[in-house]
Amino acid sequence: MVFFFPHIHTLLMTSRIDSNEALMRRARQVIPGGVNSPVRAFRAVGGTPRFVQRAQGPYFWDAGGARYIDYIGSWGPMILGHGHPAVLQAVQKAAADGFSFGAPTEREIELAEAIIALLPSIEMLRLVSSGTEAGMTAIRLARGATGRNKIIKFEGCYHGHADALLVKAGSGLATFGNPTSAGVPAEVARHTIVLEYNNTAQLEEAFSLHGADIAGLIMEPIAGNMNFVRATPEFTQRCRQLCTRHGAVLIYDEVMTGFRVALGGAQSLYARLVPGFEPDITVMGKVIGGGMPLAAFGGKRALMEQLAPLGPVYQAGTLSGNPVATACGLATLREIQRPGFFETLAANTCQLMDGFAAAAQAAGVPFSADCEGGMFGFFLLPALPQNYQQVMQSDAARFNRLFHGLLDRGVYIAPALYEAGFVSAAHTQADLQASIHAFAQAIATAR
Ligand SMILES: *Cc1c(COP(=O)(O)O)cnc(C)c1O
Repeated sequence: MVFFFPHIHTLLMTSRIDSNEALMRRARQVIPGGVNSPVRAFRAVGGTPRFVQRAQGPYFWDAGGARYIDYIGSWGPMILGHGHPAVLQAVQKAAADGFSFGAPTEREIELAEAIIALLPSIEMLRLVSSGTEAGMTAIRLARGATGRNKIIKFEGCYHGHADALLVKAGSGLATFGNPTSAGVPAEVARHTIVLEYNNTAQLEEAFSLHGADIAGLIMEPIAGNMNFVRATPEFTQRCRQLCTRHGAVLIYDEVMTGFRVALGGAQSLYARLVPGFEPDITVMGKVIGGGMPLAAFGGKRALMEQLAPLGPVYQAGTLSGNPVATACGLATLREIQRPGFFETLAANTCQLMDGFAAAAQAAGVPFSADCEGGMFGFFLLPALPQNYQQVMQSDAARFNRLFHGLLDRGVYIAPALYEAGFVSAAHTQADLQASIHAFAQAIATAR
């Protein structure tokens, strides 16, 4: 505990920043912005990104040797924490048997079967290498199957960086105040209708105007790319009803929420509230790869059989269903199905949010928080936001002070207020208590 020795703490902090700073200077010479994914650059919060040297359980260590309690977990995949022994063993064994074949393996079937057993809405699925690829192909499939072009998406939802979906997306794009991207033809963006999340009236209007041209609707059932915003049950139900009535494909993007908010994903939570409604296609990633590049999309058999080689919708991948990635995903899915896994994870996540809320209240800072399974979000707002506009009303300057206050105390949360957080099964009671303690100090100074 370096905090008991202020001089040592200061010294460690200085060398820690220097090592990370030196790496960042080097990185900037050869990698645009020094990073391979924009939000890692700390542009929203300022300061120097931490270069990770290694990670174990709920911690990682940066270039200066400083340890952090990790609430990002690779943005969701590390639900078991880093270096889980069973997963590590499965990966090592698979690697020894070959890295990639470009030919089918039994493990791909096993992973497809394991996912299908957990998500009743999926009858068939295909494995790919990233959530972007999965979302992009789900859209192509919806268009191919319906013979229509238009897609509905919601402001603040992120579905990867495919052209059609890079329209008012959240996360890194929101951070830059850049609602869309250069390089996306207006002709492509024109087919994407962007609506406000949780706005049922707008949704109904869009379908009444364009119903016959809408190929599909893609949504995050719990939005994790504008921090943490739930779709209301009423809104979710209208999405299903309107898609059914107009012959559009309902796509749930559960890349973040799948196997993270519950074993059966966010769709299992809504199915409990309104029985019988489920998506036509589900897009998955993150947890199903356990930290390896692996994602998937799946749904009704009739739709999935539209894919090549059976049908006219083309999709392929040199590394799709990679043998090391599938081994990692299978081992991860096996662990999260242990009895009580999600109960404990959810209780720990709630405990963290309750601790943060109590500390914020004591500091007199407006605060609201929500969580489900091992995913959480908190806002420096008096009430939970319902859409992107409301999320944007958060106090960014105060959040940035809070972020750095936590970082200096060894607690690593997302470097932008538009991002969700993640608790893993490796976080202990001591980690949670230490994090709440750090939060109490950080929020008091961030006030
Ligand atoms: C992370 C994410 C994606 C993109 O997945 P990548 O593997 O980064 O391409 C898509 N949709 C949602 C909801 C995500 O959270």
